[in-house]
Amino acid sequence: MKGPVATDCPMETVDCALCGTADQRTWANLGDYTIVECTRCGLRWVNPRPMHPRADDTYDEGYYKAFYEGKDASKREYFSRRVLELVPMVPDRPRLLDVGAGTGIFLEVAQAQGWQVEGVDPSAAACRVCRETLGVEVWHGTIEDLSPSDSRYDVITMWEVLEHTRDPLGTLHAAQELLVDGGLLALSVPNASGLVGVLRWREELMPWYHLYHFTQSTLKALLRRAGFLPVRLRTIQVHGITHTVSTALEQDEYIPYIPAPVRACASAWLSVHRVPGLRLLTRAALAVLHRGDRVLLWARKPARTAPEANAECE
Ligand SMILES: [Zn+2]
Repeated sequence: MKGPVATDCPMETVDCALCGTADQRTWANLGDYTIVECTRCGLRWVNPRPMHPRADDTYDEGYYKAFYEGKDASKREYFSRRVLELVPMVPDRPRLLDVGAGTGIFLEVAQAQGWQVEGVDPSAAACRVCRETLGVEVWHGTIEDLSPSDSRYDVITMWEVLEHTRDPLGTLHAAQELLVDGGLLALSVPNASGLVGVLRWREELMPWYHLYHFTQSTLKALLRRAGFLPVRLRTIQVHGITHTVSTALEQDEYIPYIPAPVRACASAWLSVHRVPGLRLLTRAALAVLHRGDRVLLWARKPARTAPEANAECE
């Protein structure tokens, strides 16, 4: 996959979105794209990047076909777990806004469990699918286009959204404006410290879609900069580990990133991974080491009337 943005379109260079510095070093050379790392705060982003591609061109029907078609069942199961995790944190199933609603599978699952749901998505194609199949209000645009005077939400969710944005801090500020005091933001991003990041795996890093590449620490720092209090964070492994490891070992381009002892361990693991329980054990180990391929983070807008509720995670 080469991505939807023509590489001959005008490019722009941008400074660090977290600390504002222009000091950066190359983190990964990925053909037409370079990911840099801020030497001060560690944030990683695509630099330079195409200027202002239209969202409807980038996130067209082809995008949703590639990432959603034939995957409804597995996505429903995945999002059911995400909805269940919200219940203890916001027990009375109030108003929820899903940012980057896509074809609405998360909205469908949340609505079925009693939540009052709305969505926003920059793709006209995706909004049409949501309205026609779910009857749910999904605004065409970005969260920055919504006016806080229209409505306030108790929960805002952003599943795999922040890495696509051109201004992640602006996106989080908009979420702040739209949440009630003490409201909850739940989000996920690909883990730049996970296996895919360690390997600089171009096809999974997808620099043509993912403009930012967060580690747990840069994600938490960005949330704090936007005025949120991170209250819970963990990583999970979504992709098959066998596929990730075997592909990495087959691809010459990844070999320079993998130290020889790690290659030897990976080969040994592949030869015994069918032993019952070993795969589960590996998933658990990745979670404990915070190396799963997704970071899940829950953060609160500070509650003005109940400061004791403003406890952060580490
Ligand atoms: Zn920085």
